[in-house]
Amino acid sequence: MSNISEKLQSVKSSLPEGVKVVAVSKLKPASDIKEAYDAGHRLFGENYATEMRDKHQELPADIEWHFIGHLQKNKIKYIIQYVSLIHGIDSLELLQAVNDHAARAGRVVDVLLQFHIATEATKFGMDMQEACEALDWVAAASRSEAGLHVRPVGVMGMATNTPDRELVRSEFRTLKGYFDTVKATRFANDPSWKEVSMGMSADYHIAVEEGSTMVRIGSAIFGPRDYSKK
Ligand SMILES: *Cc1c(COP(=O)(O)O)cnc(C)c1O
Repeated sequence: MSNISEKLQSVKSSLPEGVKVVAVSKLKPASDIKEAYDAGHRLFGENYATEMRDKHQELPADIEWHFIGHLQKNKIKYIIQYVSLIHGIDSLELLQAVNDHAARAGRVVDVLLQFHIATEATKFGMDMQEACEALDWVAAASRSEAGLHVRPVGVMGMATNTPDRELVRSEFRTLKGYFDTVKATRFANDPSWKEVSMGMSADYHIAVEEGSTMVRIGSAIFGPRDYSKK
């Protein structure tokens, strides 16, 4: 298949109802996003804050921008005004920094807690204890005078980059287990805790079988990326 809208359609038609597609457009030109936009898609994911800022300025205002990369605190300012979901909250410090920026911007920003589920040490993410500390802080901040300006709505994770499908499956199952545990212990009566962001071009079918609600698909829609541009 050749063009972006056809590939997008083919990805979407392979998914069960209710699973959202974050079209990952990092390192791709705004014209590629526009092609998917003209085909009706509104949800895009970016990894680099200044790249996302530039594309946000150039493209239609009704695009939903998800930040899916590793977010450095000094880059929060480039995305905080308009970002609709930050997937990669990988420490309490980052959560607090996003909260501060969101407060100043007069917003409440939805976030996902990123868990480390892969075997590679280079991948980011929290363990269950760190996530619980972050959620304890959220609970305390929501009772504080300043109020809370982030809303945790679920979990995100990246599986190991490996041909071993069973390893990938077990990592996704672990992430879904973390989601369920937090749901049962902290959000049992709160429908806002609802998203499991897992699955990329190479492994999204497995992720969906293991309970993903949101897949992040780049190359299967936009083709291979040229990292030399970074
Ligand atoms: C780049 C990226 C993706 C998309 O990867 P593809 O393999 O191109 O689908 C998904 N999630 C994250 C966090 C990424 O950095």
